[in-house]
Amino acid sequence: MGSGQTAWESALIQLSNAVRELGLDDGLHELLATPRRALTVSVPLRYDDGHVEVLTGYRVQHNLARGPAKGGVRYHPATDIDEVKALAMWMTWKCALIGIPYGGAKGGVGVDPKLLSRNELERVTRRYASEIIPIIGPEKDIPAPDVGTDEQTMAWMMDTYSVQTGYSVPGVVTGKPVAIGGSEGRGGATSRGVMYSAFSALREASVDYRGCTVAVQGFGKVGGLAAQFLHDAGCSVVAVSDVKGGIYNPRGLNPVALLRHLRGGADSVVGYPGTDTITNDELVELDVDVLVPAALEGVITEENADRVKARFVVEGANGPTTPAADEILEKNGVVVVPDVLANSGGVAVSYFEWVQDLQAYFWTEDEVNDRLKVLMDRAYTDVSGLAAERGVSLRTAAQMIGVGRVAEAHRTRGLYP
Ligand code: GLU
Repeated sequence: MGSGQTAWESALIQLSNAVRELGLDDGLHELLATPRRALTVSVPLRYDDGHVEVLTGYRVQHNLARGPAKGGVRYHPATDIDEVKALAMWMTWKCALIGIPYGGAKGGVGVDPKLLSRNELERVTRRYASEIIPIIGPEKDIPAPDVGTDEQTMAWMMDTYSVQTGYSVPGVVTGKPVAIGGSEGRGGATSRGVMYSAFSALREASVDYRGCTVAVQGFGKVGGLAAQFLHDAGCSVVAVSDVKGGIYNPRGLNPVALLRHLRGGADSVVGYPGTDTITNDELVELDVDVLVPAALEGVITEENADRVKARFVVEGANGPTTPAADEILEKNGVVVVPDVLANSGGVAVSYFEWVQDLQAYFWTEDEVNDRLKVLMDRAYTDVSGLAAERGVSLRTAAQMIGVGRVAEAHRTRGLYP
């Protein structure tokens, strides 16, 4: 991905930093650095015109010490085993940090979903799901949406698994439509969590969030709603972007109107009336209070970190900042609210969805949002408390808590045989 460090290299460096601070031994370090299971499958796809191509799919279960594996499925042309391994490792720390009883996993298919018809997408999804059936299930590993996948993808996965099993198994995936056992509030959960953690960081620095300027990189499922929530709360969202580029208006954009514009058929935010066109690189370097990278990993690197002018970076994406960039941002006094904390609202409500599915008893949206806020506020307090106590960044503190809880689970369970 971005220059310098790959996602997997970044994940390993972050783990080493946490291991050093925690004083864990080399054997445990190696155990935590190694995925428990990594499955590669071939996914033959028959295109609508009849020709066949074989895609590659992955499911990596990084760690199962604290419970079943949990994590999304990504459809992206750059997805490969190393990226999935990194994303799975981050899920392990994220679930431990937010305090939900899961290990970490991630899956993906190396494909550009924008180039597939709906029927082709359904065939890829059903074939990928059936190839990973041996290792998934409500007690084993529970997939969810990620970049390039959505509610419909989860509905097809749930149906494929259920048909094979002979009865409906809603708890096999989360992020499903409400009609088949999805949770109220799951769609906006990651974005809502981004807002909660941004506000916690601002409050801690005694900055009033009202009137704060915000730039959001990636106007997709996470970034689009994060922009809307921040705007609704009184922030001024001055720039957003997607793969085609970005738009900027120093007086503020209206994300609701922009979302409507996109739903009306526009294929990019670029060209939205009343805005200047900027590049994704320019967006990252804008003079704003809060920068929310909400697209892919490796966008803030040692190349551009010195030019980041935001005071707060709130990571909606997984792995947007490389360890080399982290050091530069820290030196420059930029507060980074790390991915495993800032975007954990998604998996937190996935957990609520799974609990509701297992109990066959469903909560209201207010109940979901209230419980999400409790989990996120507690995680933020834990992280900022440890950061202050140990004199480390929020990233290192978050990793220390996540890694520390997984290490404790290993120590308590012991090593078999
Ligand atoms: N893909 C999301 C993440 O990276 C959500 C995972 C989940 O809900 O299991 O956290």
